[in-house]
Amino acid sequence: HADNQISVRLNQSVQEFLGKNKVHGITTISGETIKADAVIVGIGILPETNLAESAKLKIDNGVVVDEYARTSNPYIFAAGDNTNHFNPMLKRHIRLEAWLNAQDQALAAARTMCSDLKAYDKVPWMWTDQFDVNLQVAGFTEKWNNLTIRGDINRRDCIGFQVEGGLIRSALSINRPRDMRVARRMISAQLPFSESDLEDDDIPLRDLLKSAKS
Ligand SMILES: Cc1cc2nc3c(=O)[nH]c(=O)nc-3n(C[C@H](O)[C@H](O)[C@H](O)COP(=O)(O)OP(=O)(O)OC[C@H]3O[C@@H](n4cnc5c(N)ncnc54)[C@H](O)[C@@H]3O)c2cc1C
Repeated sequence: HADNQISVRLNQSVQEFLGKNKVHGITTISGETIKADAVIVGIGILPETNLAESAKLKIDNGVVVDEYARTSNPYIFAAGDNTNHFNPMLKRHIRLEAWLNAQDQALAAARTMCSDLKAYDKVPWMWTDQFDVNLQVAGFTEKWNNLTIRGDINRRDCIGFQVEGGLIRSALSINRPRDMRVARRMISAQLPFSESDLEDDDIPLRDLLKSAKS
């Protein structure tokens, strides 16, 4: 973003919109005034649970559901951003804000309604395109303190693996969607991989996965 003349203000929030009939700027809580022709507002980070609360569903950082998209009421199912769902691989509840989660969890909910119980246990994954960078993140960890890098981070062509106890807990790719496709399978396989193999770009990831499985 910085390379594209975008200035990011971290740990800031908007104090006030300036202008009467048309916005011409904002002030921030730190007292800065920023001119603007238009303002784009991002809303929706906090789950809206009023309807679920009035139905007396269990709420804890969203509507609590199990791995089958069942709420605390046996007649009500829920899926998507608004749910805090149990992930069997992680063995804890998580709330995700990504379209694939909304899609796949909804499929699990539909199956459950049809008495076809199949746990929703996908590796969390999301992607975004920012200018010329395709960024993808998959996995379970909140820490990124032991990254094994394959590729060249300066050329924006790499994938990093967060390895804990020999297992890949999560991966982050920059312009490497093909590697990420395999990395997601490596995470869900929960098999050990050596960090030197992971960073060796001459060994295709699919070969590593194949030999780990054999
Ligand atoms: C700016 C932005 C960028 C994003 N970029 C990405 C991205 O790059 N990659 C990615 O994976 N995800 C991205 N997301 C997240 C993705 O859009 C969401 O994860 C996904 O839309 C969630 O789907 P959902 O069905 O759970 O919820 P929603 O899409 O929010 O749908 C919920 C619907 O319920 C309706 N509703 C709410 N309350 C009621 C009510 N009481 N009665 C009836 N209807 C109601 C709402 O109007 C809405 O239509 C982005 C989101 C935003 C806002």
